[in-house]
Amino acid sequence: MAIIGSPKGTHDLITDEARAYDYINKVCEEVATIYGFDPLLTPIFEANELFARGVGDATDIVRKEMYVFKDKGNRLMALRPEGTAGVIRSIIANKLYATNDLPLRLYYSGPMFRYERPQLGRYRQFHQFGVESVGSTSILADFEVILLAFHSLQALGFDDITIKINSLGRNEARVAYREALKQYYKPLLGKVCPDCKVRYEQNPLRMLDCKVESDVKFAKSAPKITDYLTTEDKDDLAFIRDSLENYGAKVVVDYGLVRGLDYYSGIIFEFEYVPTSGKDYGAIGGGGRYDKLVEDLGGPPLEGVGFAFGLERLHHILKEEGKLDHIPMKDDLMIVGMGEKTRTAAFSLLTTLRTYGLRGTTNFDDKSFKSIFKIAESRGARYALILGENELEREVVSVRNLETQEQTEVAFDEIVDYICHLFGIRGHHDCRCHDEDHECCDGDCDCECHGDDCECEADECHDPDCTCKNDKKKEKV
Ligand code: AMP
Repeated sequence: MAIIGSPKGTHDLITDEARAYDYINKVCEEVATIYGFDPLLTPIFEANELFARGVGDATDIVRKEMYVFKDKGNRLMALRPEGTAGVIRSIIANKLYATNDLPLRLYYSGPMFRYERPQLGRYRQFHQFGVESVGSTSILADFEVILLAFHSLQALGFDDITIKINSLGRNEARVAYREALKQYYKPLLGKVCPDCKVRYEQNPLRMLDCKVESDVKFAKSAPKITDYLTTEDKDDLAFIRDSLENYGAKVVVDYGLVRGLDYYSGIIFEFEYVPTSGKDYGAIGGGGRYDKLVEDLGGPPLEGVGFAFGLERLHHILKEEGKLDHIPMKDDLMIVGMGEKTRTAAFSLLTTLRTYGLRGTTNFDDKSFKSIFKIAESRGARYALILGENELEREVVSVRNLETQEQTEVAFDEIVDYICHLFGIRGHHDCRCHDEDHECCDGDCDCECHGDDCECEADECHDPDCTCKNDKKKEKV
């Protein structure tokens, strides 16, 4: 029967790759949490109108790239092409803005969908991690969001990020610039591409971002935003540049930066990293301020600023640069049951060890030792715990160090402590201070045996902070 492939422009995240995505996401979440951002997860499909109104009718994303469909109730829906519009819809619908605690600091993560031509770093289903800070007009909100992104990239191991920044102007600057662009393009309308004719009517700024060769030429000679920025806009741009540089970031002011979504105003930015291979995956992330989006979607007059990373691009580059090698992706151990009779005992030992957070598997069918050890090694296991029928009878387990091939026998009733000790797992026993000699943990556990009511009979205690009232023991500390 014919094999069904994955849809064009999509990709399966297989085991280690899925783990790497998880890791990248977690690092971003951790940094966002340090910055006081909270998670907000919205549906992957929304009313088509949300993106038409939010992202903008004139954008390539809405005009050409959205997956739009009618549901069984005849509603026009779209798979989300980006995260901001959904977050803002949720803020408005759930009145999250009705708080004194503004700006709202939120982060999200998940798949996005754009019907683009698949190429290096460009997919039809891809993943973004993003944040939105909604409800402050302060330039510090822009700075905080960019710094959060910069620190996330640093935490992931990117050490040579370039941050491109520009200002699209707030309020009057953008209106004046838009008008100037219209004046400039008016006589050229017969020569520009059909898309740019639509952009001319809906958002002439987007004409500057056109990739058609003849239009690129026109864009080069078009009026520059710098001539229209107010003093305040220029001060904001300088503040962002200087502040980021103070934190060690490499910043380039790029007056040609436009970005592909209509809602931006004020400061916009993009993160770039060129891997050693020189491959161009495109920007790894970008964002900016939006002053009208919340209102355009029916909410109160609140401004916001946000960014999104493309996880595929982060992953490709980090992998290429060998910065994902440290992720603990592998098992700790493998329990080898040899012979049908050992299977249940092997499984039960594994289950106990799993409760202590140890990662591992066991075989369900008989295989040769050689092939089991090979599997164990390929899964990164450091130890094989062998339980043959002979061991079962003698109530011992053979513990094999897969690196040194040394093997030792451990009695059933000591095996859990023994393995936990090997992996440095603390507090793994049920000790409530009656363990005779603290052998299980050398006194280095989280049990309560050093508390005021301690009746510990231990001969030795290695805890220098011991507050034990037991005189006998105190003397020995
Ligand atoms: P945007 O939502 O267009 O501002 O994009 C933010 C980030 O998402 C970009 O910098 C990319 O890293 C990533 N991205 C955008 N489109 C795609 C795509 N089609 N495939 C993979 N990543 C993408």
